[in-house]
Amino acid sequence: MDTHHLRNLLHPDLLRQRLEKEGLTRTTLSFYRYVRLADVEALRHTLYQEWEALGVLGRIYLSQEGINAQVSLPTANLDAFRANLECREAFQAVPWKIAVEDDGKSFLKLILKVKKRIVADGLADDAFDVTNVGAHLDAKTFNRKMEEGAVVIDMRNNYECLIGHFEGAYLPKADNFRGAIDEVVEMLRQQNAPTLDQGARSVDPLVRPTSAPEILLYCTGGIRCEKASAYLKHEGFTNVAQLHGGIIDYARQLKADGLKSKYLGQNFVFDERLAERITDDVVSTCMQCGTTSDRIGNCHEASCNVLLVQCEACAEKYADCCSPSCREIHQLPIESQRAWRKGRSTRSTKTKAINDPEGLRKRIREEEELLALNGTLHPELTSINPHPVLNG
Ligand SMILES: [Zn+2]
Ligand SMILES: [Zn+2]
Repeated sequence: MDTHHLRNLLHPDLLRQRLEKEGLTRTTLSFYRYVRLADVEALRHTLYQEWEALGVLGRIYLSQEGINAQVSLPTANLDAFRANLECREAFQAVPWKIAVEDDGKSFLKLILKVKKRIVADGLADDAFDVTNVGAHLDAKTFNRKMEEGAVVIDMRNNYECLIGHFEGAYLPKADNFRGAIDEVVEMLRQQNAPTLDQGARSVDPLVRPTSAPEILLYCTGGIRCEKASAYLKHEGFTNVAQLHGGIIDYARQLKADGLKSKYLGQNFVFDERLAERITDDVVSTCMQCGTTSDRIGNCHEASCNVLLVQCEACAEKYADCCSPSCREIHQLPIESQRAWRKGRSTRSTKTKAINDPEGLRKRIREEEELLALNGTLHPELTSINPHPVLNG
């Protein structure tokens, strides 16, 4: 097969125009599944042809461990798309989530990529069975098991736990999934050896393994827990369950079923809003002054951009920046800012959070002292000012 044409190389403006002209009602939906897929390259090309014919746009990752898809398609083709999924065993009855607040214009083209993994997580997934996942729990059952004393673990990135989490949940400190899962395994081993299949303590006949508490995992949308629960089971923990659909669906179920939320505060989301409030609880404090706050944002100094919890008062005091040093740059004329940034590395990530608020406060105190003393924290600015004062 000539696979050369199985991609869309048109200019984004053209694609946008085409979508505007199309005039069809589109539905945006997402689905994923950890499932062993064979001959992924060939599958990719076939799916591209079949889905393109159905008017599917979006981003799909395929790998030998499964599929992760976010797509939009003409609403009239939903049944045909479902039928297309059903005719492959690997995708049969895969649950999909329809985005409610979406105009269906989120995607301009169809992108199907073959990846090593469907979620970047740094786990050697060929070493364990990624399809042997924990039980999926709805919100009501999750709540009940929490009341029964289950161990609750937050599988999101550490910065996502800052402004909201389940009551009493274990929040890993590591700043990546791989580190977090190792930390969780270590914590669980220390906490209760009897949870293990062959508990080391069972050699002592006097110490009978009591019934180990159940392990409950949760994340934003559920996909991380698929991998995490499979990994924990591989590590010998048998009693593992996960929140079906993640916090997003938990919030929906709270409303639909009138349940009491055991999630406190806000849910971190990956769009411009950064956060979505679930309850009025405020679980965090301002990283700059320590007052109760769950106002989250990025430092406005573009080369810093670090994520922090910052109260209203501090946002004003530091001009939406993380420190006096960033504030000084941020308040310069834009050309001077550009000149200063030249040659400096700028953070491409918006999701690097301050993990040592005490250290930040110490730095702020030191910077304020220096600033009072010297009138600047950036003596190098005098040499790069593009508009030198001539009549000085
Ligand atoms: Zn503050
Ligand atoms: Zn900053």
